[in-house]
Amino acid sequence: MMPCGEFLGRKWNLQDVVIATVLSSMHFLCLFAPFYFTWGAFWLAFGLHMLTGLGVTLSFHRNLAHKSFRLPKWLEYLFAYIAVLSLQGVRIVSVLHGTLLVNSAGHMWGKQAYNTGDLSRNNWWLAMVALGEGWHNNHHAFDYSARQGLEWWQIDLTWYVIKILQAIGWATDVKTPTESQKQRKVFNGEMVATDAKARSN
Ligand SMILES: [Zn+2]
Ligand SMILES: [Zn+2]
Repeated sequence: MMPCGEFLGRKWNLQDVVIATVLSSMHFLCLFAPFYFTWGAFWLAFGLHMLTGLGVTLSFHRNLAHKSFRLPKWLEYLFAYIAVLSLQGVRIVSVLHGTLLVNSAGHMWGKQAYNTGDLSRNNWWLAMVALGEGWHNNHHAFDYSARQGLEWWQIDLTWYVIKILQAIGWATDVKTPTESQKQRKVFNGEMVATDAKARSN
């Protein structure tokens, strides 16, 4: 696309300008939300945030981007459609902030369980707000895994939904790392040393 000028040190094409305009007006409209606050509206927004958030994590991210499990076509389309709904209204703001948080905070704060050779981290509070996507070091270590909260105590709401779908026979070919795959990447001095030794031999 034709660049239409320089701003903030980068070239902006028409698409960039449209996206920036839509996103900033969405955020601007959010400023009015407190004046129209009701608990009914709050819980409705919360429910819709959970639903569209799940659309993004379960469908776009784990099902379509990483193919970590399969769904029958009708259900695959239904979940993808729910994810597309996040473009409606104020919900995109909440879902977007979730996505941005995973990719920023998920590389800054938290623990590294696996030796991924990058800055990805496991962050419990991020996992709570981002429906399980905060176990980001696990995700970098096993990006094919439908489950990101790999320990029983690592809450991963998206994974629980996939488990239910698997139990009723809708989700199939559900991929998770095996115990030995996890052992090979687990972060401790000894493992790293053995790896280095194995490579030098
Ligand atoms: Zn990352
Ligand atoms: Zn990913």
